[in-house]
Amino acid sequence: MRWILPLFLLVACAPAPRPPAGPPPTLAITHVSVIPMDRSGVLADQTVLVRGDAIVAVAPARELAVPAGTPTLDGRGRYLIPGLFDTHVHLGNEPPEHLMLYLANGVTTVQNMSGKPAHLELRARVAAGTLPGPRILSTGPTTAEERVDSPDKARAHVAAVKAAGYDAIKQYGDGADSMSEETYRTLVDTAHAVGMRVVGHAPRNLPFTTVLAAGQDSIDHAEEIVYTHAPLGAGSIRAMQFSDPGPDKTRAILEELAGLVARARPAIGELANQSHAAGLALAPTLVAFETIRRTVSAEYQSMLGERELEYVSPVLRASWGPALNRYRSGGWRNRLPQIERVLATSLALQMEIVRAFDAAGVPLVTGTDAPLPFVYPGSSLHRELELFVAAGLTTEKALRAATVVAAHELRVPGGVVAAGAPADLVLLAANPLADIRNTRQIVAVVRAGRAWSRADLDAGLAKLAALYDPLELAVARIVERIDADDAAGVIVAFRATPAPIDPMLARLVENAVNAMGYKLLGANKLDAAIAAFELNTTAFPQSANTWDSLAEAYMTRGNAELAITNYQRSLELDPKNANAAKMIEKLRAQPKR
Ligand SMILES: [Zn+2]
Repeated sequence: MRWILPLFLLVACAPAPRPPAGPPPTLAITHVSVIPMDRSGVLADQTVLVRGDAIVAVAPARELAVPAGTPTLDGRGRYLIPGLFDTHVHLGNEPPEHLMLYLANGVTTVQNMSGKPAHLELRARVAAGTLPGPRILSTGPTTAEERVDSPDKARAHVAAVKAAGYDAIKQYGDGADSMSEETYRTLVDTAHAVGMRVVGHAPRNLPFTTVLAAGQDSIDHAEEIVYTHAPLGAGSIRAMQFSDPGPDKTRAILEELAGLVARARPAIGELANQSHAAGLALAPTLVAFETIRRTVSAEYQSMLGERELEYVSPVLRASWGPALNRYRSGGWRNRLPQIERVLATSLALQMEIVRAFDAAGVPLVTGTDAPLPFVYPGSSLHRELELFVAAGLTTEKALRAATVVAAHELRVPGGVVAAGAPADLVLLAANPLADIRNTRQIVAVVRAGRAWSRADLDAGLAKLAALYDPLELAVARIVERIDADDAAGVIVAFRATPAPIDPMLARLVENAVNAMGYKLLGANKLDAAIAAFELNTTAFPQSANTWDSLAEAYMTRGNAELAITNYQRSLELDPKNANAAKMIEKLRAQPKR
């Protein structure tokens, strides 16, 4: 009984809860454990008040009164984190409604990595509150898409991207799209002079130290470092991934891979320090690489049954299937087991890079590259967090990469639970600092001040899945013909699709028939290949690529005249088609047979 009196005194002396200053809040989250991210650890029993699209107060629940009538989320036993950032997505041609996948998974900011005018429209609709979705930032079109291959073009590209209203420059270049060091440095300098970030790939024809010297703001994909930093001893990885070195060399390379990670460790540590000194940030996109490794492995069959496929458009899903999957049906198709070993080694190197870069203090941010095949918009971000922890980061560091560090690198407010920050929040049923997988346990999401309960989010997802229904059957019929190698049947099924035809579906069909043509060409069935390519030119006469492929088939059969005619058609439709121009020149130089 003796303790009752002191306790009573303590309660009596506590300050009375104060009402929030200013106009009434529009949302309260009460008695919640806050993981603020602007400092370490958890704040127990907090009340968070939101007004409009901003957080206006975060304080111990006993100190902050919630005005009667304020819409309230009960935070007892729950954890509140800032909304998550995916700094590397492709909005592509997916329907606007697919943005719900990000919200439903607690991703409240995305950076789109190859922008088109339509994406700026999406950004505006979301910002205006007329389309539910994450806050969108977008780079301009990539330097490869715009063929930036001279200092003058680099300057013009930056000016155009800036004038169009994009948020950053997307650097992309390898093989035919490579750029000189002078062009690359001009690109970075010009962008920085007008206050724009340069993000994306490394120029793969230049050593990685060039990236550090030029001052690119962030590198997306740890694999870029594997490809361009020679001291990692990873030239053999590149040789396997980008060409087929033949059985003897393959055997030697696979032997060389054993122990590569251990051998590369000192070089990675040194590079981490150099990267830190250069002010580089890294979005390793481990989930993208891991998913590609799974795709070429025996796991692929089970991936075809993944539950989340329901929320992927049938057209995109078809392009992930066995006949069209770019990792399984492309250049790797005859050596998938060897490729899997190479990718596994590269992934291990990349995880080592992540660990060392973190230890050196390089800012790491989460990005996924969704929707790469089976890299689902939204949920893949949670896998990326898990991979950060698997690489050796603490749960707190991983969470920082998806929140406060990402906001800082993208130069936008947010990423914290604090007064004045955007009201982009995720309410979790369990503590993500205890187990990073708990970021998946989403009870509610607040986006720009609007609260979405789990039921609201699920309803949004169901609506998305229903949106795909009308196309489902049409795509299934087309895929059936693709699987039967029936090019004519594919075109017939495509033409039977009820209008309006999804432009993505047209692309899928064109690619599928084109791939069939090349398969026939590879098997030396020249007449059948020409018939397939011809079908494609009839169905898609505006596509420069269909004419280019047909020309190639004629060239293979020795019909120089027909090859030239069709290359010319291709060049008329796409004056930038360097291949067609080169081939016409070559064919004209040939002696007549
Ligand atoms: Zn990407």
